[in-house]
Amino acid sequence: MDKYPEFIKQVDNEYWLVETEAGNYKLHYKIKDILFCWQSNFQHIMILDSYTFGKMLVLDGIVQTTAADGFIYNEMITHVPMNIHPNPRKVLIIGGGDCGAAREVAKYPGVKRIDMVEIDEMVVKACLEHLPEISGNLCDPRVNFIFKDGMKYIQDLNRQNDDGIEKDLYDVVIVDSSDPVGPATSLFEADFYRLLYNVLEDDGLMACQSESPVFYAKTMKNTYDRLSAIFPITRLYTTTVPTYPGGIWSFTIASKKYAHVNPSKFDKETICVNKEILESCFAIPEFVKKILDTQTQC
Ligand code: SAM
Repeated sequence: MDKYPEFIKQVDNEYWLVETEAGNYKLHYKIKDILFCWQSNFQHIMILDSYTFGKMLVLDGIVQTTAADGFIYNEMITHVPMNIHPNPRKVLIIGGGDCGAAREVAKYPGVKRIDMVEIDEMVVKACLEHLPEISGNLCDPRVNFIFKDGMKYIQDLNRQNDDGIEKDLYDVVIVDSSDPVGPATSLFEADFYRLLYNVLEDDGLMACQSESPVFYAKTMKNTYDRLSAIFPITRLYTTTVPTYPGGIWSFTIASKKYAHVNPSKFDKETICVNKEILESCFAIPEFVKKILDTQTQC
């Protein structure tokens, strides 16, 4: 690699992606090749071929998803909410630029419309071309790509619904965002969740990735508390993603009506999620419970 970006370090004749987490924790991935590299208007985008995890999407130097373990996160953020809702027909995905979440939602024949609101079209283009292990070369006619800031989309939809007679509402919303830095910051704010509540059907529900209970416990707690202040039902579940700092990762469900999974109903072809995982993922470790139970300001 004669010219390589700031996140790639050369050590002797080896190349390493160096991911810096929370300022003082570094993860190193040995890289075979840079398949795609671009500075978009929103973030630095790379698709790398790594020795251990295969191809990986890296945004602003942070690993988002990999061919080796991306299925874990993408299945967990989609099949849990899609199983809780008895009959999801209209689904909104905010973020999800690798198309992995949309690919999983498309496994539900009852879903008639999948709106995917992704701020950066370049991420989608790069993943469809260079990361088919995750994107699955998504071309389902129900998927509508809307290249827009998720916060702006929700704000506009609220205004449109307030002005219009016919409300455009969703059964399930999945917030598959990057970390709360840069373009995704607004997707972790209480205002965003309040506006999102308004675009859900009376029995709608949402799921979001709510960060690491180990490295970003404050963000996880804030997300849980902000959603709990708006929705009648809020539940946290976890999984383990090897390429995420600390492994354990949290997701939060916020629901207007339904609270429980229906494992007997689950019949999708998956690599991670199954009937047992749907139930057991809500069994959270004691230290995570303690974080959620402590009183803090949202
Ligand atoms: N699926 C990934 C994983 O496995 O962790 C998660 C991240 S996905 C790549 C995150 C996406 O959120 C990126 O494509 C990024 O461009 C998008 N994004 C960030 N901020 C956004 C915003 N405000 N509105 C819409 N999309 C946003």
